[in-house]
Amino acid sequence: MDFNLSKEQELIQRAAREFADKFIDPLAQQIDVENAVPEDIIAGLGELDMFGIPFEEEYGGAGSGYSSYVLAMEQLGSKSSGVAMIISAHTLGLGAISVFGTEEQKKKYMPKACRGEHIVSFAFTEPGTGSDPKQIASTAEKQGDYYILNGTKRFISNANYPGPIVMFAKEADSGKVTAFIVDKFCEGYSISEPWEKIGMHGGSLLDVYMKDVKVPAENILGQPGMGYAILQMGISYGKVGVSSTALGGLLASYQEAVKYAKEKTHRDEPIGKFPSIKMNIADIAEKYEAAKWLVYRLGFLADTMKDPMQFAKEAALAKDFVCEEMINVSRLCMNVHGSYGLMKDYKAERIYRDSIMGSQVEGVSDMQKMIIAGVILGMK
Ligand SMILES: Cc1cc2nc3c(=O)[nH]c(=O)nc-3n(C[C@H](O)[C@H](O)[C@H](O)COP(=O)(O)OP(=O)(O)OC[C@H]3O[C@@H](n4cnc5c(N)ncnc54)[C@H](O)[C@@H]3O)c2cc1C
Repeated sequence: MDFNLSKEQELIQRAAREFADKFIDPLAQQIDVENAVPEDIIAGLGELDMFGIPFEEEYGGAGSGYSSYVLAMEQLGSKSSGVAMIISAHTLGLGAISVFGTEEQKKKYMPKACRGEHIVSFAFTEPGTGSDPKQIASTAEKQGDYYILNGTKRFISNANYPGPIVMFAKEADSGKVTAFIVDKFCEGYSISEPWEKIGMHGGSLLDVYMKDVKVPAENILGQPGMGYAILQMGISYGKVGVSSTALGGLLASYQEAVKYAKEKTHRDEPIGKFPSIKMNIADIAEKYEAAKWLVYRLGFLADTMKDPMQFAKEAALAKDFVCEEMINVSRLCMNVHGSYGLMKDYKAERIYRDSIMGSQVEGVSDMQKMIIAGVILGMK
């Protein structure tokens, strides 16, 4: 067991931290208010390889694995959950293409996506279903060498950026779900206005409408009818991004609480001298450390674990724990701030709003518990 970071991991962590401190932090408030990430930030992240950290160099990735990805995401997420959410959803979609794509698909779609010139989406949620993807109602009808896709997808991250979207639809004849790689903004593809959500501003969520979208059969991801397997595996790896984004939120709460406890004074002494504040700081530190090692371990398991079922359990376990602890820790951070934490002038307010998001993304917390217990007990 070695808890030291490799030289490469240290470099990636430092690069992400420096970029986040220098370029994201000064604009974090603006991103929150405008619910948009400036193009310069996306371009800068692309130059730093942040859109392709875990993927093979052969296809334009950094070849550094999920172990490095979690380190970078923690740093980016600590300054803006919205920025991290863009990379998280992108990596989920690109991860599916990298695992299930043909050589041609990978060569066509991965290099631009790894450079951040294209941002990838992954679309399973629909107005009628989120937790139960078997109820997917979007349809794919085969016509010669093409499929015609129709339907509505709900709450789709990055649907407003150009690039590929991994789209799940039910084949009209077999009733089985198939995954397709669709080019966003092709004919028949349109999007709603962004949803106005409580937190993670800057990471846009939109509905996607497909009206007779014509997709060549060669754009099927994996095999016809293999959609659920791709969905389940994709989402397991996607939880690495959601967990590390939430870890960034815990780090942000930690940093803001410590800073405030030292700066704010009562009778000329910092409030950190009060036992109640000390208790809050200690609680935050404990929860951050536990979450950190769980997420770093999940990054390691994503690179090394071979059994998809066991990995699904580990991913659900880490995601559930860390997202719930982000809520608890952001509350403790609020305690340290008193009424000032409720004000938009303080970062604690934004972190608190962001914290509620993670538990609902890529499977709600209750569903994570079902997955964990199902694998432990061997019962679905
Ligand atoms: C920030 C954000 C980003 C997102 N990005 C994407 C994206 O890029 N692509 C995408 O496809 N989707 C995305 N989503 C959607 C998200 O994945 C779904 O909203 C989520 O899976 C939950 O589905 P739902 O909202 O329909 O809730 P529901 O499925 O309606 O669940 C509501 C409640 O019912 C309970 N419940 C439901 N079914 C069961 C069951 N079988 N057993 C026990 N309890 C159950 C749940 O515990 C939950 O508490 C995103 C959502 C957010 C907030």
